[in-house]
Amino acid sequence: MVHSIAASRDCAQISAYLDDTYLEQVDTTVIAVGERDGMSWVAVEDCLFHPQGGGQPADRGWLEDQEIVPVRHHDSGLVVATAAVGGGLPSLAVGERVRARIDLEARMLHAALHTAGHLVEAVGRTQGWEMVGSIHFPGQARIEFQAPDGDARLGDPDGREEVTAVLREGVAAAVADDLPVSARYLPDGRRMVQLDALHAAPCGGTHVRSLGDLAELVLPTVKIKKGRIRVSYSATHRSPR
Ligand SMILES: [Zn+2]
Repeated sequence: MVHSIAASRDCAQISAYLDDTYLEQVDTTVIAVGERDGMSWVAVEDCLFHPQGGGQPADRGWLEDQEIVPVRHHDSGLVVATAAVGGGLPSLAVGERVRARIDLEARMLHAALHTAGHLVEAVGRTQGWEMVGSIHFPGQARIEFQAPDGDARLGDPDGREEVTAVLREGVAAAVADDLPVSARYLPDGRRMVQLDALHAAPCGGTHVRSLGDLAELVLPTVKIKKGRIRVSYSATHRSPR
């Protein structure tokens, strides 16, 4: 493994994607450049790009007009921009100014799916279930639970339909109430995301402003897969206000 890095003295990165889900473009400064296994990368100060992680896909983004893929650089902890498949990176040096931009439509869809995942988790927990897995990718979003005390309703199709109706009701009520979504940092540095008083979880993803931003939230009937309760769902972001 070959890697090199050049960085500015104060190489602190601002995770702008955590501060504002809807920030589409920013003019910022290159704080580090490097190479790893023959792949060049660039890190900017105001990082708009959410890297893949926590069950959420990476943002689609650009530096100047060059499409990039953001990834977490494990040695430094920075989110760095790497070339998209078949593309390259603009030639940039530490200290240079650069324009960063994301695909805001894709970001809003990812944030909607991710936030809806928290909501499905919250409603599942009200059934006495524990979350054991989550994925928020478009087309395959689902939360998986286990029922530590068992759940007799899940044993037959009518029961599964009945329990799905309860979940749908809980989800619809929270969206109708337009519960606010907020984030705060604990003294240990963890970022806690809250759906009002309904739910709180440590999370480094992007979220909508309030649950009324969710649209087309659909929960197909729950399934049992390999002993887990699988609640699939789909959601979109409502049109911008
Ligand atoms: Zn989250």
